Amino acid sequence: MHAFAYSRPANLADAVALLAAEPDARPLAGGQTLLPVMRARLAAPSRLVDLARVPELGGIAETPAGLRIGAMETHAAIAGHPAVRRLAPALARLAGGIGDPQVRNRGTIGGSIANNDPAACYPAAMLALGATIETDRRTLAAADLFTGLFATALAPDELLVAVHVPASPAAAYVKMPQPASRFAMVGAFVARTPAGHRIALTGGGTGVFRWSEAETALDSGASPEALADAPLDPDRFTGDLHASARYRQALARVAVRRALADPAFAP
Ligand SMILES: Cc1cc2nc3c(=O)[nH]c(=O)nc-3n(C[C@H](O)[C@H](O)[C@H](O)COP(=O)(O)OP(=O)(O)OC[C@H]3O[C@@H](n4cnc5c(N)ncnc54)[C@H](O)[C@@H]3O)c2cc1C
Repeated sequence: MHAFAYSRPANLADAVALLAAEPDARPLAGGQTLLPVMRARLAAPSRLVDLARVPELGGIAETPAGLRIGAMETHAAIAGHPAVRRLAPALARLAGGIGDPQVRNRGTIGGSIANNDPAACYPAAMLALGATIETDRRTLAAADLFTGLFATALAPDELLVAVHVPASPAAAYVKMPQPASRFAMVGAFVARTPAGHRIALTGGGTGVFRWSEAETALDSGASPEALADAPLDPDRFTGDLHASARYRQALARVAVRRALADPAFAP
């Protein structure tokens, strides 16, 4: 690991100022991704700006539309929070299925979303639920946040502050986990929203995306079984040592079928 400076600001303004002052400074949340990447010398920030004591980044609260979840809330906190379990039960279950206890107790929703790993779980939930992302300087739709592999629309000195998730009683997430890490080999998040059905797929290898052909079919009254023939772009899937692209594509159809059959989703 390269040498780096370390700061632990006490509020959001100071955290943003530290990042703005130094182009190679990086925010540190749970460290579950950033620290291993630094140990492997794949990243060498000049300074880590530890977000652990920034109060504006914490808290889970009910809002008129659903929930506001602070960026520094851990997967374990989200999984166990009564309001999340009541208003967005599929999101609570997704959080409870991430990694292992250490990852769930240290890793944060903000770190996961800002990292936008193509095998991460939350990005699929954010897209399918139509979440809104609050940063230190703006709000944007989740659909506008995820721009590519490990890439987001966040500026280098911009902090994700919270996510706003609509109440979502009819939703389900099915993950086909990679057995060693528990990351999604493929994951499907399905939701019935006021705007229609939403299906977001993660783990394919090219980044989270919505399966719009299947959404349109469901909105037109097609049965989940009919989705077996719905077009699903093969270019969205890549192969690696865990699974071939074709296998991932086939898994995606199975994951969606199982999610649609989940009692939490079915009417
Ligand atoms: C063994 C293992 C298994 C895992 N399994 C899963 C899984 O099944 N599903 C899944 O979804 N994930 C999984 N993960 C990833 C895990 O969810 C991490 O929590 C997540 O990748 C990063 O969150 P973090 O809080 O640790 O962020 P960090 O590692 O601290 O930061 C990650 C990146 O986000 C940036 N960042 C952090 N917070 C902010 C912020 N508020 N604003 C802007 N940028 C920010 C950092 O600078 C860094 O670039 C796994 C990780 C491990 C190690």
